[in-house]
Amino acid sequence: MRIVVVGAGLSGLFAAILSADLGARVTLVAEGRGSLALSHGGIEIWGKASPSRALPKLQANHPYAKIGLPALRAALGEFQALVEDWGGLRYAGNLSRNLSLLTAAGELRRMGLAPPAASNFDQLKLKPFTIGAVQGLLDYFPALIEQKASSLGLKVQGVIDLPVLDAPAKRALSAVDLARMFDQKPWRTELLRTWKPPLSGVSRLLLPAFLGFKDFNAIREEFLEELGCTVFEVALPSSSVPGLRLERVLRSRALDLGVEVIDGVQAKGRIDGPSRGKRVAGLALSSAGGQRQLNADIIILASGGFLHGGLEALQEHAVREPIFQLPLDFPQDRTLWTSASPFNLQPYAEIGVRVDKQLRPLDQRGRVMFENLHAIGGILAGSDRTHEGTRQGIDLSSAYKAVHAAIKPLRQTASSRRLK
Ligand SMILES: Cc1cc2nc3c(=O)[nH]c(=O)nc-3n(C[C@H](O)[C@H](O)[C@H](O)COP(=O)(O)OP(=O)(O)OC[C@H]3O[C@@H](n4cnc5c(N)ncnc54)[C@H](O)[C@@H]3O)c2cc1C
Repeated sequence: MRIVVVGAGLSGLFAAILSADLGARVTLVAEGRGSLALSHGGIEIWGKASPSRALPKLQANHPYAKIGLPALRAALGEFQALVEDWGGLRYAGNLSRNLSLLTAAGELRRMGLAPPAASNFDQLKLKPFTIGAVQGLLDYFPALIEQKASSLGLKVQGVIDLPVLDAPAKRALSAVDLARMFDQKPWRTELLRTWKPPLSGVSRLLLPAFLGFKDFNAIREEFLEELGCTVFEVALPSSSVPGLRLERVLRSRALDLGVEVIDGVQAKGRIDGPSRGKRVAGLALSSAGGQRQLNADIIILASGGFLHGGLEALQEHAVREPIFQLPLDFPQDRTLWTSASPFNLQPYAEIGVRVDKQLRPLDQRGRVMFENLHAIGGILAGSDRTHEGTRQGIDLSSAYKAVHAAIKPLRQTASSRRLK
């Protein structure tokens, strides 16, 4: 059985891993990199209230209403076990209560599952902490965090300047630069030696998220053992180190499970003629090197929303899904696509592919279009994921639901064939 996943974002990578883990032969194709580098690395499930209470009340066309609470719960469990066992990333949290994390803008963001060492408000408020200032670091404003954190009732003991060794001479320093440097043991041993005097007496330290990609847990241990500091990380905007850590773990797990990854190709859908258009046959892949055909028993479409090419807004007030030309509902008048205030729900964000409970795209009359095509993640209709705070919860749970819905009938057919 060959499953082809289109898209290397959170939903596509998770779907590829789950499918391979269930024994399928998996190919993942992606035109570009998924957008985990633009994410805080946490898992927003339902930002506005307790997820387990809010979900049963949702309208029928919301992705979570199609996915259901049991699949969401199972997906989160699989995710937490996967990233901890494979990558040492221990995500805290559960479905019944959101955690509040301090952001780089000094605001609080509600999140279902938080990455390890994240700046969890409940932990920060237990005791005073110090903020580390790193000169020349892009998008990091410790004085702003100090001021906002104090207004939230947190006790900030002050801001301490921390020097950086070997900073780039001709451009600004980024969190990604520092994370790479922290992964080099000799460099960080020297740095911790330099930081020891200014951090003497500091037991709780808030830093931007830059403590390495691969040696993350070891680095936190070294801070504790050598400097006596427990570190809390605040994620900086793109490229976000916690998002990249997560991407690194998911990619490496997918490769370890034997997923074939084809990067840098643009996919177009191929419909299966002999099934009279009831099934998809595979993809045509284009790259600078030419074209190739890929056959599939199942395709999982994880090509993202407007921001990543899964949906395209056209000049003539129209929207299209470019891979299989799936039907989409959208207001004909483009002025109705956005709300007057950026803080309100945005109608354009709810545009997407409508699906059944197995996450198979529906036609204009509500009938399943192709038996073996499933859509997941940002391409799904029915939610403004940013406004709701549901982005990654929908990504993970839709991947879980689609993979299990797709693989079950194929397994049943295979076992009944064996019985005959
Ligand atoms: C501009 C931007 C801003 C963002 N801001 C935030 C933010 O503020 N907070 C936050 O948490 N997250 C943010 N994100 C991250 C993103 O929304 C989430 O990570 C998202 O939940 C993951 O979506 P996904 O898996 O559905 O697809 P994506 O991560 O969007 O990935 C889509 C994948 O599909 C591939 N693809 C698309 N079309 C084709 C094709 N024809 N052929 C082959 N491959 C194709 C793409 O190359 C990519 O690999 C942002 C993303 C973008 C792009």
